Amino acid sequence: MRILVIEDDKVIGSLVEKVLEKKEYEVDLVTTGSLGEELATKGKYDCIILDLGLPDKDGLEVCRSLREKQVDTPMLILSAYDAVNVKVSGLDFGADDYLTKPFDNEELTARVEALTRRYHKNKSREVLSCGELEINLLKRKFYVNDNEVELTNNEFDLMTYFLQNQGKIISISELAENVWEIGFDTRTNYINVYLSYIRKKIRPYTSKAYFKTIRKQGFKLTDE
Ligand code: CA
Repeated sequence: MRILVIEDDKVIGSLVEKVLEKKEYEVDLVTTGSLGEELATKGKYDCIILDLGLPDKDGLEVCRSLREKQVDTPMLILSAYDAVNVKVSGLDFGADDYLTKPFDNEELTARVEALTRRYHKNKSREVLSCGELEINLLKRKFYVNDNEVELTNNEFDLMTYFLQNQGKIISISELAENVWEIGFDTRTNYINVYLSYIRKKIRPYTSKAYFKTIRKQGFKLTDE
């Protein structure tokens, strides 16, 4: 787990770093809002701990700007201001939690743990992947090697079912029942046609086939 700490106070910054590293977190510590924003946008973090009084900009601005850039990493504001309205605006600006300085070390790690746990739980429901293939169920987007590939609704639902059942052999009748919720004639070429569309769409972005045809049984999605 990687945590980004944006804190200009050296004593507090290194304390947070020490507390988290003791719990086996990897910590990147920066002292300005702009550097923090840059790292948070590029890097993959499991949580961001953010001070509000930063030398170059307001922590709330950092928070808002990251959310505008679609960075969905959980953010915990760590600040000496404990006025209710500051807490409320922090949450309004897209932060997930707020902790007042001085803080208790155990409280800090408990909050970080709760945030990262919730984040990964939601993420795992929202994003499915197999090798270079990735589907975001919430945004209904499909990516191959980070390239967005447009799928029709039927193709998207088919792809989702394959990703949910990757590695398993899926018969045509199973697909018909679960994806289209109909029991149609399994001799039809319908599924084959959709699969060929998907195969054609992913081909420019990968050298792997992903879909294997298992004779007389059905298909299997695998990144082998
Ligand atoms: Ca500060």
